[in-house]
Amino acid sequence: MSSESGVPTFRDAQTGYWARFRPEDMATEEGFRAQPALVWRWYQHRRQMLQGVQPNAAHLALAAFAQQHPGRLTLITQNVDGLHQRAGSADVLCLHGDLMEDRFLDLPRPCCHPDTVETGDPPQCPRCGNMLRPGVVWFGEPLHLPTLEAGQHAARQCALMLVVGTAGAVYPAAGLARLARDAGAKVVIVNPYASELDAVAHVVLRGTAAQLLPLLLAAHVPTPPGGMADSA
Ligand SMILES: [Zn+2]
Repeated sequence: MSSESGVPTFRDAQTGYWARFRPEDMATEEGFRAQPALVWRWYQHRRQMLQGVQPNAAHLALAAFAQQHPGRLTLITQNVDGLHQRAGSADVLCLHGDLMEDRFLDLPRPCCHPDTVETGDPPQCPRCGNMLRPGVVWFGEPLHLPTLEAGQHAARQCALMLVVGTAGAVYPAAGLARLARDAGAKVVIVNPYASELDAVAHVVLRGTAAQLLPLLLAAHVPTPPGGMADSA
């Protein structure tokens, strides 16, 4: 979904100075507690990279569809880059959190307030030292349960699930496609490459999100009288 916007994957982002560090040390609570300044700067680096990219045609097509068909689309993503929100999508279920958000590392005490943190790498509560950390789900951490449950609910209720650009290897997110299929939905995969979910799908479309989603999401829009009949 986001590679066509130029967002590097987690591993591809680790180039240059950052190539010397193991992903496990940059994306676990243990790694953050061991080297909070280093890990915080890594996330600041990734946030700066995101400021230079834009939502692509796939993000925009989903947002436009949702605006034209209120209540018809539930958008569930494993991406943490915020590009769906920047494209105009609301109520996005971000299974792996949001890279642009912060939260406190330890349970916030009454003294801990995001607006009064001391700036630094990372910022921290001036009273108790509680550090801010990026609002993403790290290795070994559970997903935000209400978000996952909302996604599972949508998967059970939907008539059609589009599975876009995922290798389908990370659970429980990958389980949503099977959940939808078992509940009677049609499952359509959009992916330039083979994925582990291909066997779950009714239809597999080989192509990128930016190529195919604008066509798919516009395809059923009623054609005005006298208009093109083959706009799909
Ligand atoms: Zn505090």
